[in-house]
Amino acid sequence: MVIVLNTGAAMPEIGLGTWKSPKGQVAEAVKAAIDTGYRHIDGAYIYENEKEVGEGIHQKIKEGVVKREDLFIVSKLWCTFHAKDKVKEACYKTLTDLNLDYLDLYLIHWPMGFKAGGENLPLDENNLIIPSDTDFLDTWEGMEALVDNGMVKAIGLSNFNEEQIGRILNKPNLRHKPAVNQIECHPYLTQEDLISYCHSNGIVVTAYSPLGSPDRPWAKNDDPTLLEEPTLQNIARSHGKTAAQVLIRFQIQRGLVVIPKSVTKSRIQENFQVLDFELTGEEMETILSFNKNWRYCPMHWCVGHKDYPFKH
Ligand code: NDP
Repeated sequence: MVIVLNTGAAMPEIGLGTWKSPKGQVAEAVKAAIDTGYRHIDGAYIYENEKEVGEGIHQKIKEGVVKREDLFIVSKLWCTFHAKDKVKEACYKTLTDLNLDYLDLYLIHWPMGFKAGGENLPLDENNLIIPSDTDFLDTWEGMEALVDNGMVKAIGLSNFNEEQIGRILNKPNLRHKPAVNQIECHPYLTQEDLISYCHSNGIVVTAYSPLGSPDRPWAKNDDPTLLEEPTLQNIARSHGKTAAQVLIRFQIQRGLVVIPKSVTKSRIQENFQVLDFELTGEEMETILSFNKNWRYCPMHWCVGHKDYPFKH
């Protein structure tokens, strides 16, 4: 199952997430995913495991299970590389770590630029982010150059709100439109307005943290736990499926790409077994009604940044 991008390329609807996947486990996870049938891997420089992701990919190419052109590999430009002349350097580092000649999709990870040249998350004495004075319209020109020189096949956004996407789309001399916006999306954050805005502008939406990101480092005991939502579990039971499978199927039926993360072989397989059942219209409505605009990834130390994307 694929979704066609505005570049004409086909993007597989289910990808393997790799944030928080430990270096010692992620290569095995990638291999298990490819053996299961996944052809899309979602990574990023900031996940600090691209070398190991690349090892998993190359092992499967070497074994003849897949060819490079069968795979759809995604990575993301980190916030300390937003200066236009830093974009190529950042992408080159990712390609070198993955040991690949090109990416299928490269995203601006966040609309916010951070102080360059030091830590990945440069914080001041109040634990607030130290911004750069970059403008993401200039960053976008750096991204466009990567398409021109063949380092990436398509470019896109992540965590951009409607207004910020509009700035890109209305940019004078726009040469390559964003193909994708990757955003947090699950039944507690259904994102209906942003999805419809993206779709009406020919931008595919990828849903991240589709299972509610239970292993996020800042999880608190009283945060809502999506996988334990009783009504969701009832719906899952009635289909002979798990809550995770319903959460993934829900996004596919909305026309989204979805990237559940796991380093557990049985779960990697489970998360891919979602094409043999269908949620009814009523079940889709019920799941949509769980929305409470709850973010598992609010990037709270960036709230004061001029380009902080979240209004609620
Ligand atoms: P997910 O919602 O995918 O949840 C991952 C967690 O769920 C892990 O603890 C995993 O455990 C567990 N899990 C996986 N499958 C199952 C299952 N079938 N049953 C029960 N538990 C399960 O969280 P993420 O936040 O990781 O989001 C997915 C991906 O989206 C990321 O890995 C990353 O690639 C991307 N992302 C992008 C962001 C951005 O800013 N653009 C931000 C956040 C995520 P285990 O691994 O131990 O099996």
